[in-house]
Amino acid sequence: MSSLAVVREGDTMLFDCGEGTQRQMMRYGVGFTFADLFFTHFHSDHILGTIGLMRTMSLQGRTEPLRLWGPRGLAALMKRADAFGGERLTYPVEVRELAPGEEVKRKDYAIIPYAADHGGLLAFGYSLVEDLRRGRFDPETARALGIPEGPLWGRIHKGESVTLEDGRVIEPAALVGPTRPGRRLVITGDTRPCAATIDAAQGADLLVHESTFGDEEAARAVETGHSTAREAAQVALAAGVKRLALTHFSARYSRDPSDLDREAKQVFPNVTIARDGMEIALPFEEEPGAD
Ligand SMILES: [Zn+2]
Ligand SMILES: [Zn+2]
Repeated sequence: MSSLAVVREGDTMLFDCGEGTQRQMMRYGVGFTFADLFFTHFHSDHILGTIGLMRTMSLQGRTEPLRLWGPRGLAALMKRADAFGGERLTYPVEVRELAPGEEVKRKDYAIIPYAADHGGLLAFGYSLVEDLRRGRFDPETARALGIPEGPLWGRIHKGESVTLEDGRVIEPAALVGPTRPGRRLVITGDTRPCAATIDAAQGADLLVHESTFGDEEAARAVETGHSTAREAAQVALAAGVKRLALTHFSARYSRDPSDLDREAKQVFPNVTIARDGMEIALPFEEEPGAD
């Protein structure tokens, strides 16, 4: 069942929480201390694990708030869940309904929901978009200019001009290259192939696209508001993403998704068939240690 954890520099956030999510989190070492759970939509295969997970957090004595984010309807859903959830939780739950395009801004990045195309109901995809990063600092030139290594380098890197002891003024442009794009990750949730995903995923480092069916069931994909592997690959190609991960396979393909892999790769080469517990690292493009 659907659930995906994003771990970004110490922040963990969960996207969807299908049945069995907490068990798989334990199995694969994803901690329960995260603060944000984003829902793409409210079909049962994306939400049924939520109450169990919240109860476990309570049994563990959690006190930090848990924030739940999702499309319109989330508040009503959580109210209903509360009615049969029973005992009180040890921590506050903040329910936040989002509109398409409404950014959840964090330090250095934002999470932005967009309207996917899932059979007429409001379903979100999400992009995680990092802010521009500072340009690269040039240590060789700094040394050649006789700027002592240490805090001054940091100030120049942050964009300050500094005055040296001998009176010279060093402008950051002399030592710092152009700003660089941050990383971009897009998670579609359940959807037909759509222009909104192509827009959101322009140049993304990773697109996680649903791929419920293979070519043989292309008509069913249309009827049920889902995508085939080939359609997901066409979206990846149109968006110019670096890598495509396919998820959300119907029962027929979940044991052997090789058809999906093959059909997608006929369109887009860099395809990964996701499975439970798989981890995908998204390094910056530059060589490590460049910062
Ligand atoms: Zn759905
Ligand atoms: Zn689903």
